[in-house]
Amino acid sequence: MIPVSKPVISADERKRVDDVLRSGMIASGPVVAEFEQKFTAAHECRFGVATSNGTTALHAALLACGIAPGDKVLTTPFTFIASTNSIAFCGALPVFADIERETFNLDPAAARTALISTPGIKAILLVHLYGLPCDMDAFIELKREFGVVIIEDCAQAHGAAYKSRKVGGIGDVGIFSFYATKNITTGEGGMVVTNSEAIAARTRKLVNHGRQGRYEHDQLGYNFRMTDIAAAIGLGQLEKLPANNARRQAIAAEYDEALASHPGLKLPSAPADRTHVYHQYTLRSQDRDRLKSHLDDRGVGSFVVYPVPSCGQPLYRGKCGCPPDEPPKCREATMASKEVLSIPVHPHLTREEVRTVIGAIGSFR
Ligand SMILES: *Cc1c(COP(=O)(O)O)cnc(C)c1O
Repeated sequence: MIPVSKPVISADERKRVDDVLRSGMIASGPVVAEFEQKFTAAHECRFGVATSNGTTALHAALLACGIAPGDKVLTTPFTFIASTNSIAFCGALPVFADIERETFNLDPAAARTALISTPGIKAILLVHLYGLPCDMDAFIELKREFGVVIIEDCAQAHGAAYKSRKVGGIGDVGIFSFYATKNITTGEGGMVVTNSEAIAARTRKLVNHGRQGRYEHDQLGYNFRMTDIAAAIGLGQLEKLPANNARRQAIAAEYDEALASHPGLKLPSAPADRTHVYHQYTLRSQDRDRLKSHLDDRGVGSFVVYPVPSCGQPLYRGKCGCPPDEPPKCREATMASKEVLSIPVHPHLTREEVRTVIGAIGSFR
């Protein structure tokens, strides 16, 4: 089976890990600091705080932005559950607004409607889904107009850009994940990035037991730290990110061309002002489940990302911060969850495998 994703750890990364293991300093130390500095520079941000995973990065970022119990955070229903859970970790309530059909990202027009109909929304948690940036100008405009904090979930968008600006530092704070399937992996890992010195300082405290000096604690914090072992892998992976993203884009372009005229399939599209890094290459078909088994039969892996929108999960159904007389409609997210199918687009696909994927989809009727 051709896998949808494939983490590849090179000899260079093994050597870096070995160096850390030999150094005797295997927890959080100088290698984490170097990874923070290089990752942050590559994403055009001033500050970075490495974390144990993307979920802890989200949790710390929201707390650092002052999200507190009872607050409302506007977000997309079409994402991995961690985005929504991070709001709940803070005791805050998610308010869902629908997505755009073309990009699968939070619709700024729907967000505006929710900001007007639901008073007291403190922040917008955006997700650059599948590696495609959100319409950031529209959200920065909402920030100006409504005074909301903008949090970017870039867990799928390492190196992606909006109008030539890297995602992560366009809003107030951004987070990345280095889970095994992401465009950069450290096994498990994450990073909070920001241009705000104050948010960076609060995050750094939160991820390390709220500590001030060595054993001085004036607030509650967590152990969300990254290890030097993970950071060593991350440093190697970061160097390969531009080439790996370029390979993802080249494979996506090949799919675009080969599948353009296939009846009944809608291919992913990227507005001209955005650099899509194709964490996923996601097709739409009204016959999605049959397409998936057709691909399974031909040895082509595929994933439904995501089969249920967050607003429809038992955890959040009827338990969000939307007004009770106005349950979230989220029609586009619900439709997307029934039609999407992600096919292999990882940078280690061989030419032969790309041809096999194209052939398998091409023979679907
Ligand atoms: C992967 C992912 C996360 C969570 O990251 P982990 O490192 O798995 O905790 C959060 N948001 C989105 C959109 C993701 O894809």
